[in-house]
Amino acid sequence: MVADSQPGHIDQIKQTNAGAVYRLIDQLGPVSRIDLSRLAQLAPASITKIVREMLEAHLVQETEIQEPGSRGRPAVGLVVETEAWHYLSLRISRGEIYLALRDLSSKLVVEDKLPLELVAAEPLEVRITALIDRFFIDHQQKLERLTAIAITMPGIIDTENGIVHRMPFYEDVKEMPLGEVLKNHTGVPVYIQHDISAWTMTEALFGASRGARDVIQVVIDHNVGAGVITDGRLLHAGSSSLVEIGHTQVDPYGKRCYCGNHGCLETIASVDSVLELAQLRLGQSMSSTLHGQPLTVESLCAAAQQGDLLAKDIITGVGINVGRIIAIMVNLFNPQKILIGSPLSQASDVLFPAIADSIRQQSLPAYSKHIVVESTQFTNQGTMAGAALVKDAMYNGSLLIRLLQG
Ligand SMILES: [Zn+2]
Repeated sequence: MVADSQPGHIDQIKQTNAGAVYRLIDQLGPVSRIDLSRLAQLAPASITKIVREMLEAHLVQETEIQEPGSRGRPAVGLVVETEAWHYLSLRISRGEIYLALRDLSSKLVVEDKLPLELVAAEPLEVRITALIDRFFIDHQQKLERLTAIAITMPGIIDTENGIVHRMPFYEDVKEMPLGEVLKNHTGVPVYIQHDISAWTMTEALFGASRGARDVIQVVIDHNVGAGVITDGRLLHAGSSSLVEIGHTQVDPYGKRCYCGNHGCLETIASVDSVLELAQLRLGQSMSSTLHGQPLTVESLCAAAQQGDLLAKDIITGVGINVGRIIAIMVNLFNPQKILIGSPLSQASDVLFPAIADSIRQQSLPAYSKHIVVESTQFTNQGTMAGAALVKDAMYNGSLLIRLLQG
């Protein structure tokens, strides 16, 4: 996050406690102060103080809760107040940008998708700033109080300082101080995260890995990468690092990869290389139902689901290779769940068993025995990933404290 100053020790405790209480109210509300004290393991006096500040700031409100079976006076419960608090969620991908307003419950207020030229005379951060200004003018009728900006994008990103070192597709980007530029322009904190890491957080907060403490999420798309949640926290959350499984060698005699090595997983399992392989092998398989129709991810997956031998064989091959690398990760992290985020999940009946079998054959049986391989709930599109960054900043207290201080 890009913010003004680091809090001192006492402030840090206050921030952590306030964040924990806000999280409980958000996830369990309506919830009473007594239950909050028990669940947060904080003294009733501390709960009273934190809740009073949140009430005054209009971040929570009181509501009546009638205990089931009770005829007495209803108890007072607390729920979060979210509608008057907005944030801007941005997503940058190849040649396009999404801009969205969401409220603190993550609900979408408005979303625009606009072209973003890969190369232009003006620097990318200048163009993004102009698009944000335009967006706020277009939607000023809908805008409530702006609390933050969240940005998700591919690239090598210093998330702590909001600096984008490099980006795929946008080749002019070098050490872009996007966080600083937008914070100075708008006056609100800016959260930037790599899109695969942010997607992993999204699934953990709102999606398929909700409630799981240890998760491996593998993304197979134009690139192949992963996000790891270990003991409830995203691995590498505050650094430029990623879980680069796409650049682990699976074939020493394989194709040269743009990273400089040979036979990386990405040269075999990325969507583009899978389609390339399918095209090559179609020439040797006259009976395939893929003949006579355009070869796309959709047609390949549909053919595999319908039992076409060539299509099944290609998807199974992806599963075996991806599973081999996940097996090593299973031995490192012993996850409860493996999530696959990929357009190839359209052939999940073929892909997921191939991955699961490969993991079972190549990792510690005690770890892999209960492994579940399933699809992510969200896709790698839209601005929900930014919602995860803001939710995380409310729960860890960093954004919450700023809103409490007005
Ligand atoms: Zn590579």
